[in-house]
Amino acid sequence: MKNFFTTLLILALLSPLLRASDTGRGYKRAIDSRILQRMKRGGSWRRGCPVAPKDLRYLRIPYRDFHGKREVGEMIVHKSVADEVLDIFAALYKIGYPINKMRLVSDYRASDFDSIEADNTSAFNCRNVTGGKKWSRHSYGTAIDINPIENPYISRNGSIAHKKSYRFRKRVHRNSKDPADRAMLIKGDRAVYLFKKRGWRWGGDWHSIKDYQHFDKTIPVQRRKSVRKIPKTVPENGVSLF
Ligand SMILES: [Zn+2]
Repeated sequence: MKNFFTTLLILALLSPLLRASDTGRGYKRAIDSRILQRMKRGGSWRRGCPVAPKDLRYLRIPYRDFHGKREVGEMIVHKSVADEVLDIFAALYKIGYPINKMRLVSDYRASDFDSIEADNTSAFNCRNVTGGKKWSRHSYGTAIDINPIENPYISRNGSIAHKKSYRFRKRVHRNSKDPADRAMLIKGDRAVYLFKKRGWRWGGDWHSIKDYQHFDKTIPVQRRKSVRKIPKTVPENGVSLF
């Protein structure tokens, strides 16, 4: 009995510390066979994509949703930016920047349109640039789209593909109590600064088109020279790094 009360006392003393240790920092893992299956089935990765799965990392990232609730999202990025992305999202968590949803784009059959329509925050997707034939930076896992409904892509002629984004055309904060308003990324915002100070470009700074949801980083990413054969057996630890 005495031990029981001692344990209770220790837990009571530790609880503020445990809460304080919620830094909002997530963690990274290699792309294991289960995740690769999801990517392939969902169509976000296939043979011929410029980056091999072994050069990508699967992240679990805590965030605050639009109701202020703590959630843990999923994201895939290039290994060279994985730690930095975890740092940035920990900082976003700290400032209370709200994120509507954070799921893998393969959950949306790798459809950029559907992922945006769901207001999903995501990074890696092996696809062409919007309206072009070159690989998008998302194909390298070095680009992230954040709250895409509140932060629309606005084409050269001013058109927006998603109706739900129309009310976010005008880039001005109006109501700090509205999570959708706080999710808007506007020049000078702390959320934007957290990326920029680490050398990420922001699509909201572009002149011909505006891509307010988009951040990317130029890093020396090695493209796959040849597509290696996928081994028939998965290594013992279940992690296949190819
Ligand atoms: Zn993007």
